[in-house]
Amino acid sequence: MIAVDLRRHDFQLDELVERIKSNDHRLVALQVPEGLKIQALEMMDQIEDGSDAKVVLAADPCYGACDLVHDKMRMMGVELVAHMGHSQMNIDSGMPTQFIPVTYEGDPELDPILPIIAQHHTVAESRLEAIGKEVELDDSSARDHFLDAIGRIAPLTGTKLGLVGSIQHLHLLPEYKERLEKSGYVVEIPVGGDRLSFPGQVLGCNYSGDNPSIGHYLFLGSGDFHPIGLVLHTGKPLAMLDPYTGDATEMSLERIERILRQRSGLIMAVDGAVSFGILIGEKPGQMRRSLAIRMKRLLKKHGRKGYLLALDHVGPELIDFYPVDAFVNTACPRIAIDDSVRYAKPLITPFELEVALGEKEWEHGYQFDEIP
Ligand code: SF4
Repeated sequence: MIAVDLRRHDFQLDELVERIKSNDHRLVALQVPEGLKIQALEMMDQIEDGSDAKVVLAADPCYGACDLVHDKMRMMGVELVAHMGHSQMNIDSGMPTQFIPVTYEGDPELDPILPIIAQHHTVAESRLEAIGKEVELDDSSARDHFLDAIGRIAPLTGTKLGLVGSIQHLHLLPEYKERLEKSGYVVEIPVGGDRLSFPGQVLGCNYSGDNPSIGHYLFLGSGDFHPIGLVLHTGKPLAMLDPYTGDATEMSLERIERILRQRSGLIMAVDGAVSFGILIGEKPGQMRRSLAIRMKRLLKKHGRKGYLLALDHVGPELIDFYPVDAFVNTACPRIAIDDSVRYAKPLITPFELEVALGEKEWEHGYQFDEIP
């Protein structure tokens, strides 16, 4: 078996090498997520040693399966793309692509997270009880009120514990489900839509497995990228267990509230804006052309001007200088949510533009910009 072991990350290259050999491929592109690029040369050696193919590393930044190597590599003569560490999405890059799973054999203890889960379960129960008894908030209170800002908590029908994770930890979920059930919880590993390949999977732009019977979540993974999106999308309490460190924490509602205040501020900041740059992502899984054109039409309807700007990578140095008042982002949703402070001008999501133009109402619930 060909495997590389990095902090117990396991990369399986056998299937790839077999495919290369049986198709007699001569030139293969390797695409590796940022966190694993340090191992890329070792992987290239192993593929070249195991086959007659030459390997070219697609060395541009890669943050997801939305970012598949596409036609440019075909022009270089590449016959197959080996994409490491992400799973297949509902997109066609136009290139034959082999997805290579990367798994991590962490085994974090459940005990430290159980008190947090117990507390969240109580929150879910009281929310369920409160359904139908919500007090109507006026516009300004709603803007200040986290629970009201995320309208999606409204249709709660249960208090199940949703068990989710990032891709390299998904194989742990069935075992953790059993352990949590032994602790007395009713646990669901939610199954999402076409953009997700596996039960329990979440992406920074897609939490489609969420359903009203789930009252709170446990996320197996590291960092707060997925947790922030999940709570922005659902409004539900989220416990976090890190398989690398064993750390047991939660996504604080104050943090989400801060983000929502910032979003609300940006919506107000574009109030007098007349001209907008509308960003279209060129990456296959980020390209939302119809949405961008709809935003352009919407701006026109409201007497504003929208310029369509197509980019592969989005960054302040690439757009700040355009003489527009603000930007609307239809590429990776997280560019507007996580990075807006890096930009000199307001950078908002399509939903936020609709709110700014009076087409949608903030107080009916903040809508996370999900790519289905
Ligand atoms: S969050 Fe952004 S980078 Fe990640 S998969 Fe979604 S579109 Fe791609």
